[in-house]
Amino acid sequence: MNSDEAEVIGAGPFDTWLDAMRESLRGDGGTNVPCGDCRGCCVSSYFIPIRPTDAAAAHISPELRVRAPGQPAGHTMMGYRADGTCPMLVNRQCTIYPYRPQTCRDYDCRIFAAAGIDAGGPEKIVINRRVRAWRFTYATDTAERTHHAIRATASFIRHHAAEFPNGRAPTSPTGVAVLAVKSYGVFLDPAVGALSDREKANAIVVASRAFDTPEHEPPTRALF
Ligand code: SF4
Ligand code: SF4
Repeated sequence: MNSDEAEVIGAGPFDTWLDAMRESLRGDGGTNVPCGDCRGCCVSSYFIPIRPTDAAAAHISPELRVRAPGQPAGHTMMGYRADGTCPMLVNRQCTIYPYRPQTCRDYDCRIFAAAGIDAGGPEKIVINRRVRAWRFTYATDTAERTHHAIRATASFIRHHAAEFPNGRAPTSPTGVAVLAVKSYGVFLDPAVGALSDREKANAIVVASRAFDTPEHEPPTRALF
């Protein structure tokens, strides 16, 4: 590849990815990331939560873990080496792959591509490169408009934190992207243009709560 050419990697059909991601966020399944030889997640200075239910807990030395702040006893976090790599990574292979933590199984960097943001700063450079390379396909105009709505929601969250209740909105890239995927229906509604920024922020919070209690969630795709 010419150094002037941007790398492009197929991310798959957007609507299929979105359905799987929303199911994953509800704890009902997961996505299947075509990672290839990328090891971005394993080299990017992430603290990895180890839940008591994770088989990984029996395969990771307690010396590599600290208690997870704000979590009940038994929840720990695994840190990373000085170069940002996970202690379980050797020769670019996960040494506990069959037992890797749920967080590693759930991680899908395409959520940042969906939200139109990087995964983080310089310590996430490998992931950011991948995020910028992903290209979704769109089977319908609706799928493309849905992607635009997610990007618009993420941009709003990043630039209008003060409008959210108590002036609090997610600031981490993961928090912004997850909230956008939960609440993008707000920016699909043609009436959104008539809302004040405060009303948009409140609508995002309401939509996110509805997502977390699916029986109350309005049919997002009926908003077209
Ligand atoms: S950064 Fe993305 S593509 Fe790379 S290993 Fe992680 S999830 Fe897979
Ligand atoms: S536990 Fe394995 S999959 Fe998870 S970050 Fe470490 S090396 Fe990567």
